[in-house]
Amino acid sequence: MIRLLDNYDLTAYNTFRIRAKAKKFFEFTEPDELIFFLQEGGLPGNFFVLGGGSNLLLKNDFNGLIIYPNIPGVGEVGEDRNHIFLEAGAGVEWDELVRLSVVFELGGLENLSLIPGKVGAAPVQNVGAYGVEAKEYIHLVRAVDLQTGQKVEFTNEQCRFGYRDSIFKNELKNKVVITSVVFKLDKFPEYNLEYGALKAEVDKAGETTLQNVRDAVIRIREAKLPDPEKIGNGGSFFKNPVVNDDVAKKLKDEYKGMPAYPSGIDDKTKLAAGWLIDQCGWKGYREGNVGVHSEQALVLVNYGGATGAEVVALAEKIKQSVNRKFGIELMPEVNIIG
Ligand SMILES: Cc1cc2nc3c(=O)[nH]c(=O)nc-3n(C[C@H](O)[C@H](O)[C@H](O)COP(=O)(O)OP(=O)(O)OC[C@H]3O[C@@H](n4cnc5c(N)ncnc54)[C@H](O)[C@@H]3O)c2cc1C
Repeated sequence: MIRLLDNYDLTAYNTFRIRAKAKKFFEFTEPDELIFFLQEGGLPGNFFVLGGGSNLLLKNDFNGLIIYPNIPGVGEVGEDRNHIFLEAGAGVEWDELVRLSVVFELGGLENLSLIPGKVGAAPVQNVGAYGVEAKEYIHLVRAVDLQTGQKVEFTNEQCRFGYRDSIFKNELKNKVVITSVVFKLDKFPEYNLEYGALKAEVDKAGETTLQNVRDAVIRIREAKLPDPEKIGNGGSFFKNPVVNDDVAKKLKDEYKGMPAYPSGIDDKTKLAAGWLIDQCGWKGYREGNVGVHSEQALVLVNYGGATGAEVVALAEKIKQSVNRKFGIELMPEVNIIG
């Protein structure tokens, strides 16, 4: 099914719940429909591939084309001794895929319960939570190349996954549209309960089962993170900054409790953006319709009726104050368009 719409309202398509319109909106439910659209010369210079809009801030109306791959379906496509291969369409809700994997008693995705968004976006930033990253279970990514109009496939290795990173965020940004993802899930689950309070929460249910892990993750997330259905937000607004080791050491000497983590890159340390913002006194701050969540300094919220420009203005103030206090430049994690 194809829909091509003009001046399309995107309020329901972004979890920040910003009211903004797209000049054109193209929705399709099969890869061949996108290929046909490309053959007909439908792709303008200015376009954006939209999933669930949970990592997105619409600064203004979008004066271009939104490509919305609403491809449904989850099905088994293969099996080996220890694994089942499940293919899910780009338009499937990520948490629906996780729910189904747990119902089918397949291990791997349970720690990633309740992450908002669609399956098609999961490889883009290699979604992760509670010690697990999607890359550990992604076998193959199928896509359409926007330049050649051909179907293409990427093995796990070719996706070049990193921490909240992949080839789709870099060399292939705006070059391909992911149409489905094949996951390699465990017939004999190995639980990963090392992260934070997860084990204690699972233990409350007695037995360690996939369903109990999923339920525990959901409980923890619901207690900590604002539900976009109730209060508009885009998750972590800023990336955790990665700085030279000597910069991190200097800051650690000055601010004794400052969290710092290995970055996986030589001579670089990762700092916690939320902690830096909290130290500048922003947690719980409110300014008109926008604010900083009271539990999570990294999450900016729309209390209702906020414009994208208001969110950007608050983000800019936060950025400047962190820069003044720590000399660190925060970069947005959310995609800002419009
Ligand atoms: C409350 C909340 C909690 C969150 N918690 C987490 C968390 O724990 N861990 C985590 O990793 N993330 C988290 N996020 C961020 C977000 O859920 C993920 O980044 C998610 O993968 C985004 O999915 P989406 O479908 O909404 O993508 P969108 O926001 O629509 O798009 C994100 C990016 O992916 C691209 N994209 C989307 N679909 C496709 C496609 N089919 N082909 C090519 N490119 C595409 C877009 O162009 C854009 O660059 C959270 C967000 C919120 C609001």
